[in-house]
Amino acid sequence: MLRVEGVRKSFGDHLVLDGIDLHVERGEVVCLIGASGSGKSTLLRCVDLLELTDDGDIHLGDLELTDPAIDENAARSRIAMVFQSFNLFPHLTVMQNLTIGPRRVKGVAKSRAQSRALELLTRVGLESKAHAFPDSLSGGQQQRVALVRAVAMDPELLLLDEVTSALDPLLVGEVLDVVRELKNEGRTIVMATHEMSFARECADRIVFLADGRIVESGPPEQLFTAPRDPRTRAFLERHM
Ligand code: ATP
Ligand code: MG
Repeated sequence: MLRVEGVRKSFGDHLVLDGIDLHVERGEVVCLIGASGSGKSTLLRCVDLLELTDDGDIHLGDLELTDPAIDENAARSRIAMVFQSFNLFPHLTVMQNLTIGPRRVKGVAKSRAQSRALELLTRVGLESKAHAFPDSLSGGQQQRVALVRAVAMDPELLLLDEVTSALDPLLVGEVLDVVRELKNEGRTIVMATHEMSFARECADRIVFLADGRIVESGPPEQLFTAPRDPRTRAFLERHM
């Protein structure tokens, strides 16, 4: 469903992605791991059209994301990204945060968008916060709202960039529970994470990035217990 082929990306003379090939099937959960600066966020941002690639192609189904003439709105309605720091609109209530995308981008009627939003909030235990403003919520609550806001757009692909790394450790679990639930409902997810135990439990496939390349990828039980590449082994020794 997602096909990343030969993607290269530099910032100035710093080559960050040096020929990335990654295919993701519908319903698959892929975790990107690798040292800080290895290009995980840059790769997600290239898929989300937040960065232009220098070379290579990215397709989502029949849509070529790297086509310079792409209809960005069409692409944006098929992909949703959630970031490390809570990026809710601070001047909008939780309900308005959840309904603005479906209403503006997808033309969903207000009442339908609201009932869907309430259903999603109920699923993450936040229905009582529908009329609250983001700054009155905890970090974990804000991030749960950010995740269901992404889902409210019914994207084909969810990109999650370190969605727990800005959180108090006590709040990480409640956010990972939502990610786990999204996996269980069959969503296609590519997530960059430093949460190795979560990646191990939840991912269908782990992709280890270093020096701008995919060094190794495979199912978690293989990659975490019998990594083939010495760089993967060294990374895991430091992070497990
Ligand atoms: P982390 O685990 O810390 O989130 P990462 O794997 O997500 O790291 P990236 O954020 O993709 O790494 O960064 C890869 C490299 O690209 C880093 O060296 C970073 O400094 C550089 N980089 C990223 N964005 C830019 C930018 N807009 N301009 C210049 N350099 C950038
Ligand atoms: Mg990053």
